[in-house]
Amino acid sequence: MDAIDILGVGVHKVTLEEAVRLVIGYTDDKKTNLVVTANPEIIMLSREDRQFKDILAQAALVTADGVGLVIAGKILGRPLPQRVTGIDLVTRLFEEGGGRGLRFYFLGAAPGVAETAARNLTEKYPGLEVAGVQHGFFQESGPVLEQITQARPHILLVALGMGKQERWVWEHREALGVPVAIGVGGSFDVFAGKVRRAPIWMQRLGLEWLYRLLKEPWRYKRMLVLPKFLWRVWVNKNHI
Ligand code: UDP
Repeated sequence: MDAIDILGVGVHKVTLEEAVRLVIGYTDDKKTNLVVTANPEIIMLSREDRQFKDILAQAALVTADGVGLVIAGKILGRPLPQRVTGIDLVTRLFEEGGGRGLRFYFLGAAPGVAETAARNLTEKYPGLEVAGVQHGFFQESGPVLEQITQARPHILLVALGMGKQERWVWEHREALGVPVAIGVGGSFDVFAGKVRRAPIWMQRLGLEWLYRLLKEPWRYKRMLVLPKFLWRVWVNKNHI
């Protein structure tokens, strides 16, 4: 699959629909396919953490979640076809999954949130099969792994926050035995109605980050990574 190298991380050149087909294709696999929806923070984190970089290199699919990555593709002269956010990817999978008997497990977010998210989603997508739910503030991984293996989902959605979720899946991939695991960040909070997503027009203009900044101003420190990231991409490209 064609990928572009963004500061040492391979980001796949896929549209949302191509990503959906790929993920559905993985659901018959014996090994765990990790799907990463990457943003500038993830890429910058991989520059400081060799182990994390290795995990990203072994992911089955890395999509461009943030507009920052789309801009980076343009700077590098290798444009990505579009943004493929975690939330859009899983929404399309919920639509497709019902008819195919795909089972989803919801792991992560504060107690009660995954349950509400799963309930809202089964109302919206009547064919959706929820294999199980578990909040993301557990102390021991053992019992969680046991619950997941017993539930035998095809697709494990992991909302433990960027970095943590990918590491957790990778560390436990053998024990998990799920065909697909997707890191979905704060998506359960959105599906549960706790957090609103930016209006479509802002998403289209690539301003979702601005909406998030206005709603959750305390995140500004995390967002400062965007200009740093773009500067790095530009500097590396021009060998400065
Ligand atoms: N979270 C969790 N366990 C943790 C830390 C975080 O389940 O130990 C959840 C948190 O409740 C939230 C999600 O992970 O639902 C992270 O959301 P955020 O929007 O910060 O996602 P990110 O931008 O880090 O991917």
